[in-house]
Order: sequence, then structure tokens, then C-alpha cells
Amino acid sequence: MTRPSNRRLVVGLLGTLLLVLWGFIGYWSWSQYHRLLASSTVLLEQLTSAVEEQTLRLFKQAETSLIVSRHWMAGHPTEDPGTAPTFTALVDSLRGASEGMLDIRMVGRNGGLFYIPKRSPKPLADVSDRDYYKAQLTPATRGFFIGNPLVSRVTGKWGIPVSIPVDVAGGDVGIVFVAMELDRIAKTFEAERPKPDGAISIMRADGTFLFRVPAGNNIIGQSIAGTPSWDQNISQSSRGTYYSDGTAVGTPPKLVSFIRLKEYPLYVTVAAEVDDLLIPWRRETFTLVSIAVVMTLLSVVAASILLRAMKGGEIAQRETERAHRDAKLILDAAGDGICGVDASGAVTFINPAARRMLGLMAADPVGRNFHLLCHHSHPDGSPYAGADCPVTQTLTDGQTREVHQETFWHSTGRPVPVDLVASAVTDEDSVVGAVVVFHDIAERIKAEQRLARQAAELARSNADLEQFAYIASHDLREPLRQVSSYVSLLERRYGEQLEQDAKDFIAFARDGAARMNQLVIDLLDFSRVGHSAQPLEQVALGRAVDDACANLAARITETGARVVRDDELPVVAGNTGELVRLFQNLIGNALKYRDPDRDPEVSVSARRDGTNWVVTVADNGIGIDSAYFDKIFGIFQRLHTRDKFDGTGIGLAICKKIIEQMGGNIWVESDPGRGSSFHFTLPIAPA
Ligand code: ADP
Repeated sequence: MTRPSNRRLVVGLLGTLLLVLWGFIGYWSWSQYHRLLASSTVLLEQLTSAVEEQTLRLFKQAETSLIVSRHWMAGHPTEDPGTAPTFTALVDSLRGASEGMLDIRMVGRNGGLFYIPKRSPKPLADVSDRDYYKAQLTPATRGFFIGNPLVSRVTGKWGIPVSIPVDVAGGDVGIVFVAMELDRIAKTFEAERPKPDGAISIMRADGTFLFRVPAGNNIIGQSIAGTPSWDQNISQSSRGTYYSDGTAVGTPPKLVSFIRLKEYPLYVTVAAEVDDLLIPWRRETFTLVSIAVVMTLLSVVAASILLRAMKGGEIAQRETERAHRDAKLILDAAGDGICGVDASGAVTFINPAARRMLGLMAADPVGRNFHLLCHHSHPDGSPYAGADCPVTQTLTDGQTREVHQETFWHSTGRPVPVDLVASAVTDEDSVVGAVVVFHDIAERIKAEQRLARQAAELARSNADLEQFAYIASHDLREPLRQVSSYVSLLERRYGEQLEQDAKDFIAFARDGAARMNQLVIDLLDFSRVGHSAQPLEQVALGRAVDDACANLAARITETGARVVRDDELPVVAGNTGELVRLFQNLIGNALKYRDPDRDPEVSVSARRDGTNWVVTVADNGIGIDSAYFDKIFGIFQRLHTRDKFDGTGIGLAICKKIIEQMGGNIWVESDPGRGSSFHFTLPIAPA
């Protein structure tokens, strides 16, 4: 559960980091914006003050020049200022002082315009319609007058006319005026203008533009009275700065600073486009945002790589944990003891089954030497040398060892018989430890011992039984011989004197004795099976069948039987005499229990079935009812009376004993009236 939260932590940290980063950029940009606008306002206001001063100087110069000129005229009433060299020199010096910005001219009383010096008695132009001329005729406006900017009729250039009246009695001159050439003023103010799109303007107190740099839009001479800029800002105070969104005049937003001159009815304004002011802010913001974007992308990429790696790690860890869990479950559930040791033989892990078997439930055997812990002694208590221990040997040579009937020692000191397998654990071809898997074989040993005891008992009782049968049958024949010889003697000696009945009785007694003798012989035969003095040999069943047929040759000929066998019959480990007898009994029965209506046919064949041969002796005789399939293999068990078929019923019992002695089985299958098949198995001899 802690692992996914590690990833959440990374995501959370990254998110917080990015939030802080972008928050900082937002705040920085916002404060920078406002700081820039504030500092721009201050700069703009300083600039406006400078422009105010320059404007003041310009108009002061113009006014001074006019007053000085009028003064000269008043002082020289007899001289014509148009031609007087001293006046011309004065005007030249005044123009020079203004660096050519001011052009001083005379206007006659009837409106004719003259240069100084005058070159012709005729005026250059008639300016009686100009406002600066008309203003001097009206007592209300007579005096120092700043006219509307106009295009000179003589030079064709824009200028601001500034005029004063000349009251020299008798003189021809009515007024003098100064034309301030806009181009030249523009040159002075251009240097001051905020770049690239700022503007400097001079306006009359009525809102008329006298001058603007940059020029354009035919704004000169136009009035802005009535616009929001004028009504709400400029006309409301003598100085200030305001923001104009420009929508009223269709221009971009501007910051405008203005001052009303105290000495003249003039305003100066300096405007800067907000966009221009914000250029550095925009550049810095852009740089910062770019860096932040790159940082964001890099950190997102780095985080996603990290997250992926963490996820991969988690999956790997989960798989490892699952593998550990599975391994632990397997080790815990295993019924066998499983114990791991390192290269030095110290226990590295031990499963619950091993702990249980060795009585180590409470103690912690990890780290202790495995051999010393539970394998220190032989069953007789003598020390078990470490070098002889199969686990130690496996640690030495890396070979897997399977050892039966070792003795481990329980912590209480009781021996624990075990079968064990020690397998090496290798790492790059070197043995780094071993795993010992063992199981407690105490129960199995007990069962084996019980079985061995029972087998021994059985063998003894079998031997006793056979001994008994042998002795009994051997010893029984002696009195039997006595009975039959005395019955024969009785017949020979008194046969003539005896009645027929007595003769019959004697014959019955002799028959009975003869039959009893046969039964005893058969019993003797039966008990001898498996007691041949000959050792086991490789017997070719084909040979055994052939020998049996040779022994039965007379019967085969007599019955007209056909006996066939597989060309390839197996070779088995056994006793030749007994195997010949086996086939002789089975083939003999096939001839004996033949169907009177057909010639007997007998076949002997064999096939492989797993680890056994299955041999079949089949005939076309009278067959056997399935109810008797088991019974016929019993001693003296017969299905027919002797008058019908001769015999004692020992043949199949002997066959069964021979087969079972060889580790096989015998059984019959039959279709009554069509024939029988006797099958028996024999183990395939190891190659
Ligand atoms: P016996 O032949 O001396 O009677 P066996 O032990 O050989 O004794 O046979 C037991 C009985 O099994 C026989 O009495 C017979 O009824 C039956 N039997 C054995 N072989 C055959 C066979 N090939 N076909 C039919 N019946 C058989």
C-alpha cells in the first residue's frame, strides 16, 4: 500500500513545484507590469516637464524678439525698419539666437507682408485675412497673440505665427510677427519623443493643435476640445497623467502626460503607447514563460520517466514478493523436510515440516551448522564425520546425492530415520549452498519390518506345509502299497473260492488304492513345484512348447490334433522342466477336453503387455462355463466325472503354482461349446 503513495507523492511534489513556479511567474509578471507602468509614468512626467521648459523657452524667445523689434522701431521713428541696416542686423542676431527657428517679419497697416530687409516697396503677400493680423485690430485681442498654425504664403512651410502690434505713430508697420517653423521645432522635439510611437504636442488653451511630433493625420490646427481626453483630463487640471484607451480616436492605448504653461495659454503633452512601454516587460515575461515552459516539460518528462521506472520497480517487487510468498507457501505446505544450507553448511532456511521432524519448532536453527545440528552421529551413537556427510560432499563437488536410511537426530536426542536428497545450489558454476529434502521413514521401516516378518512367517508355514505334504504323501504311499499288495494277494490266493460280489469288492478296493496312490503322487508333484535343485535359467518358451508336444506326440497323432505356435516366443528366466510341464498340462487338457465333432486345434502365442509377456494357449474344445473359471485352478478340482474324462484335477493347480512362483498370473477365458483360452503372464527378463 505504501508504494502507490510514493508515486502519488512524486506527482504531488511535481504539481506543487509547478504551481509554485507558475504562481511566481504570474505574480512577478503582474508586479513587473504595474512597476513598469508606474516608472513609465514618472519618466513621462519628467519628459513633459522638459518639453514644457523647451516650449516656454521657445515662446519666451519669440516674445522677446518681438518686443525688442518693436522697441527698436519706437526708438527709430524716422527709419524704415525694412531697409535700416541696424534693424536688419538686430533681426539677424535674434534669428541666430533661436538657431533659425524664428523668422521675424513685418506686416503693414493694411495687411501687406514684408521680409526684413525689404527688397521691394510692394508687399510679398496680403495677410489681412490671417488671425494673427485680425487679432491686433480688435482691442480685446490686441497684444501678444499666438495664432493658428498655417502654411506661409511666401515659403509654403508650416509655422506658428506669434504677433504683437507696433504702435509707432506715422510708421507704416502695423505689426511684427514671428513665424515658428514647425519643421525646425520638430527637429528639436524629435529627440525627446518616446520611441517608437510616442508623440509630443503643443496645444493652445482652446484645444487647438499647434504642433505635434510626429506630424500627420492633418491634425495641426484641429481642436481636440470635446474629446474625453480634453474634457475629462487636460482641461481639468494644470498637469497630470492619464490613460487613454484610444477607442475614441481609433489609436492604440496610450499613457499621456500633460502640463499647462503658466506664462502662456498653452499645453504641452507627451504620449507614449502602452504597448511600447510594455516591450521590456513583454520580453522578460516571454523569456521567463519560455524557461518555465521548458522546465515544466522537462520536469513532466523526468517525472513520467521516474514514475514509469517506479512502476516497473513496483511490478518487479510485487512479482518477487509473490514468488517469495508462493515459495514460502510451497515450503510451508510441503510434507517433506526442506532445509537450505550455505557453502559453509550453515542453515539458511528450514521449512515447518523439517522443524517438526527435528523438534526445532521453538529454537531458531538458522545460522547453525546443519551437520552438527542433526546429523552428528551414526545410529549406534558413534560420531558421524563431517567429511562423510552427503550434504558436505554435495557442497564440495556439486553432485546431487540421494541417500536412503540415514539417521538425523531430533532435538530431544531421538534418532529420526530419513531418506534424503542433497542438491547443490550453484551460482555461475560455483557451489554456493545446498538444499536438503528429506522425509521421515520411521513408519515405512516399521511397515517393511512388519511385512518382512509376515513374509518370513508365511515362508516358514509354506515350507512346513510343503514339508508336511511331501512327508505325508511319501509316507502315505507305503501303507497304500501294503493295502494294494495284500488285496492283490487276497485275490490271487482266494480268488477261486470267492463269490462274484467279493471279487468285485476286491477290485473296488484295488482301484481305490490305485487312485489314492495317483492322488498322493499328484500331491507330491504339486508340493515339489518350485523346489527344483536346478538354478534359474534362460528358457526359450518355443523350445518348451516343442518339448511338450514331443511328449504328447502319441496323443496328438491319436486325436488328429493340429498344434501351432508363434515362430517367435519369448525367452524367460525359469526352470525348463517346469515350463515344459506347464505347456504339457495345458496342451494335454486341450486334447483331453476336445469337442468330439471336430479335430482339436491348439495354438500357442505371446504378446507384450507393459513389463510382462502374456502367453495364450487356445483350443477349440468343449469350453468352460464362466462360473468355474476360478474353481478349476484349485487342487483336485474337476468339472467332470472320471468315467467321462480321466484325471485327478491337479494339472491346472500345478500350472497356477508354477506361474505364481515365477511372479506371474494365470486365468482362463472361454466360450462354452467353442473353446477356451488359457492366458498367463511372465515378467519380461531385464535386458
Ligand atoms: P483334470 O484334467 O485332471 O481334471 P485339471 O486341473 O487339468 O484336472 O483340470 C481341471 C478341470 O478343468 C477339468 O476337469 C476340466 O473340467 C477343466 N478343463 C481343463 N482344461 C480344459 C480345457 N482345455 N477345456 C475344457 N475344460 C478344461
